[in-house]
Amino acid sequence: MNQTHSFFEGKSCVIVTDHEKEQAILPVLQGIQGLNLTVVSNVNTDALGTFSGEIERTNPPLESALQKANLALNFAKADFALSSEGSFGPHPAMFFVPADQEWLVLKDLKSDKYWAVHHISTSTNFAALCPENWEAAVDFLKKIEFPSHGIILKVKDKVTSSIKLIIKDLNNFSEIEYLFKTHQNQNEDSITLETDMRAHRNPTRMKVIAEAAEKLKLKLNSLCAVCAFPGFDVVEIEPGLPCAWCHAPTRLTFKSLYECQNCQHSIWKAFPNGVTEADPGYCDHCNP
Ligand SMILES: [Zn+2]
Ligand SMILES: [Zn+2]
Repeated sequence: MNQTHSFFEGKSCVIVTDHEKEQAILPVLQGIQGLNLTVVSNVNTDALGTFSGEIERTNPPLESALQKANLALNFAKADFALSSEGSFGPHPAMFFVPADQEWLVLKDLKSDKYWAVHHISTSTNFAALCPENWEAAVDFLKKIEFPSHGIILKVKDKVTSSIKLIIKDLNNFSEIEYLFKTHQNQNEDSITLETDMRAHRNPTRMKVIAEAAEKLKLKLNSLCAVCAFPGFDVVEIEPGLPCAWCHAPTRLTFKSLYECQNCQHSIWKAFPNGVTEADPGYCDHCNP
């Protein structure tokens, strides 16, 4: 369902960002026909929470992305606002693998409607370390691809673990070496190195945000066959894809329910991924 459409024709959208995420989002979403995109940068979205923990984030990620989008109401006369939110930690299904989860939201500023996508990638340098010595620190910095990727240095009180100092935007090894050795010589301090996950200091994350933007573009270009509203997408899945060997149902998707959020028109599509049989590796009988 990718016919030419006019829903976004002549409409305006502001991208609300504070860490240059438009670099990843803008080139992709320029593929939405008729939508006029502008960028509002230097928005203090940090008030809604930061990665480095100065301000704790209390809302679920989708909720914060919607809040950021609504910030646009304060300074822009636009039809839509686009915002994003990221979260880093163990992969929700593979607990030992770190993952980058990104949420992108296009919010209609004149109604409650919004289009959201969630994208999970294991492509991330997300990590932290309390290095024993400068050599261990260097190994870590090389592994996380410093200096093309940023680092945050935290000095904590050894006894209480309270944060005494947070230093961002370090650009070379010698700056870090100086700070590391200075604080290492103070017995009451412990030093932690953390990957900087802000998009403009993390090219790996920037790529994942671009992938999320591709997902959003696909969604917006999928139109309801009845009312042509954008975002005709999966709202429910049913497992049971048959095993290629024994034909017993597996946990893989057998069919998906697509629904229009405007007119509620819906259809079930069997084999939505184009695959009609499951690899026996996913079968509880053939591969217990
Ligand atoms: Zn089987
Ligand atoms: Zn519809």
